[in-house]
Amino acid sequence: MKITKVETFVLHVPINPPITDAINVATHWGLSGVKIHTDEGFVGYGYTGTCGHGDDMIVDTIDRYYGPELIGKDPFMVKEIWDTLRFGKMHWIGRAGITHMALAAVDIALWDIMAKASNQPLWKYLGGHKSKGIKAYNTNGGWLNWSKERLLKDVTDIVEQGFTGVKIKVGKADPHEDYDRVRAVRKAIGDQTIFMIDVNQQWNINTAMTWGKKLEEFDLFWLEEPLNPDDILGHKKLADALNVPIALGEHVYTKYAFRDYISQGAVEYCQVDVTRVAGITEWLQVAGLAAAYDIPVCPHVGDMGQIHQHLVAATQGAVMLEYIPWIRDIFVEPATVKNGFYILPEMPGASTEIIPSCFEAYRVR
Ligand SMILES: [Mg+2]
Repeated sequence: MKITKVETFVLHVPINPPITDAINVATHWGLSGVKIHTDEGFVGYGYTGTCGHGDDMIVDTIDRYYGPELIGKDPFMVKEIWDTLRFGKMHWIGRAGITHMALAAVDIALWDIMAKASNQPLWKYLGGHKSKGIKAYNTNGGWLNWSKERLLKDVTDIVEQGFTGVKIKVGKADPHEDYDRVRAVRKAIGDQTIFMIDVNQQWNINTAMTWGKKLEEFDLFWLEEPLNPDDILGHKKLADALNVPIALGEHVYTKYAFRDYISQGAVEYCQVDVTRVAGITEWLQVAGLAAAYDIPVCPHVGDMGQIHQHLVAATQGAVMLEYIPWIRDIFVEPATVKNGFYILPEMPGASTEIIPSCFEAYRVR
């Protein structure tokens, strides 16, 4: 099989109403992506996710640098292609960030082609582990800009829908307000529901130490991204001092950075995101690394779960997957949760194929 054409796209899918966390305001979700065509008729779809900024730079990287290198290559040689692109012309200016997210889109499209050509959903093509579905937790009721009333209504609705886990955002200017919201949510969802909080890097080490300890009383399943993602030492101090496990990974770009976090005991739930670590090829290596340390993998869903449902279903150490339903309606086989569990995809591929009418409706480039 040979690659014959590489087409990039940017879709902006509206989020209603717009949401915030401690560092982002999002009015729509950006899919910077690529369609890769082959001489055997298989077309692979891959994308990375953004808050709608920088999509142009990601697809420029593919158009100008990665795309031309792909023509004539066999998609089944995905690991060789990955090395060629990673260590190619862009290596000087980018081993993380924009170039890595562009490589993620390409790599995902190649795995989509391989699974389609093998007539298997990706999770089976990779070797399945969870035939009964994947436990889901819901993030879509806990945004930082929600009033306390809306927050409590949404988390209660989520539990009533059958979800056994919820996550809310913290990182208000005054941590007393976070404390009040966390206490109210715990009371609303009861003791049996798994409950996580996400700081989105908003605290410094002192704030995290003080408020992390105060919040322990609410039996939190994890404390997510309390500090700057480059601060391995700070996270190690928190992991040692707090009785709440530290979760992070959505801003960690390479297996080397994960190696340092994991080997130093600075992360206790590995949230490796396929849209950040340059695709499935590197994601699988990080998951293997985490497994060797018995660190559970619970990906952050920059893809909104479409690809990660396959990866979690194929990974022994992956225990749970985030659910945010913002873009599911644009896909031919949307990620679907029933009674708190992802229903595993059945169609061949990586569940990245987009309905043509949605593709045209949301396309901005
Ligand atoms: Mg997060």
